[in-house]
Amino acid sequence: MPKATETLLEINLNALDNNYSYLTSKLKPKTKVLAVVKAFAYGSDSVVIAKELVDLGVNYFAVAYANEGETLRIANIETPILVLHPLPVSFEVIVNRCLEPSIYSRKTLQEFIAFAEAEKQTNYPIHLKFNTGLNRLGFDESDISFIVEILSKTTSVKVKSAFSHLAASEDLNEKEFTLGQIEGFRKISEELIVKLGYKPLLHCVNTSGIINYPEAHFDMVRTGIGLYGFGNDKEVNKHLKPVATLKTVISQIHTVQKGESVGYNRGFIAEKTTRSATLPIGHADGIPRSYGRGKGWVTINEKKAHILGNVCMDMIMVDVTNINCEEGDEAIVFGPSANAEELSAAINSISYELITAVSQRVKRIVCRK
Ligand SMILES: *Cc1c(COP(=O)(O)O)cnc(C)c1O
Repeated sequence: MPKATETLLEINLNALDNNYSYLTSKLKPKTKVLAVVKAFAYGSDSVVIAKELVDLGVNYFAVAYANEGETLRIANIETPILVLHPLPVSFEVIVNRCLEPSIYSRKTLQEFIAFAEAEKQTNYPIHLKFNTGLNRLGFDESDISFIVEILSKTTSVKVKSAFSHLAASEDLNEKEFTLGQIEGFRKISEELIVKLGYKPLLHCVNTSGIINYPEAHFDMVRTGIGLYGFGNDKEVNKHLKPVATLKTVISQIHTVQKGESVGYNRGFIAEKTTRSATLPIGHADGIPRSYGRGKGWVTINEKKAHILGNVCMDMIMVDVTNINCEEGDEAIVFGPSANAEELSAAINSISYELITAVSQRVKRIVCRK
């Protein structure tokens, strides 16, 4: 790949292939794989990523909202797509685009059935989401009789899967809690199968659950962050490769004398002669303002250049006093050689937040290396 001459997000499909192989090597041969491609495939490009995953043999996709699924359908992706958080206002898009809603409450169940009946649907695939401790979305175990009763009165929908979501699968200090969630899900699914009279697909683990709870893979696993190269664990990370590299270029270098300042609100005041490099990337591109005043950095010629003063909307200035570099040189925000987990930890954040924040202004380029 030639050196960056502007701010770019490079998407490396070979890294995705590697991560997919590693994660699927943890599964039994029959276990299905659902790839989570919400939020532009974790900040990258959902169409590019989904097409590659189709070639790799993925069984299912999940998005958070219906319009994200619509984008995949417009790109001619025909794999089943689970919409994790459908709102009744999006039922029309869901049915028009053959997307499959997660049904998480009595209200969404009743409203979706009414919609499917009005559209003269039969056996429209729905997915029942159960809350086992995350307390975010989902039915309670005590809703099962209600659900089955309502379903027995319609042929408009059919339960394709039942699932739950773990609250702390990456945290082994919470193992007891997680095992309780898994047990709760097992109980719920057993009761549901008996009462429904057929067996939907069952699934409850995310990436860290694939690694830490092999006994809970059920029929399908849902992986997001692992596909993009982060395993929430040092050992796992050794086998994964970051898919996205966010890079930019030095636009200008200034020499700032002792007592002079850099940027808005004079956020940095030089205590000694300082070389400052200005880069064309700012908070509107996904560099949080909280990285300002030295908290965050970019990597230039393999050295960390910390941010001087405040992050601007379209630019940052970084300290290159001790770095051999010139205007036109490349600067890496995160990627295989500049760890996004380490950078996000500097502001008490996580890789998920940093990589999904890269704004749509940033040009995406696809490569294999
Ligand atoms: C986002 C999401 C996932 C993916 O989790 P990762 O930790 O990125 O693997 C799985 N399931 C649900 C319900 C989600 O919302």
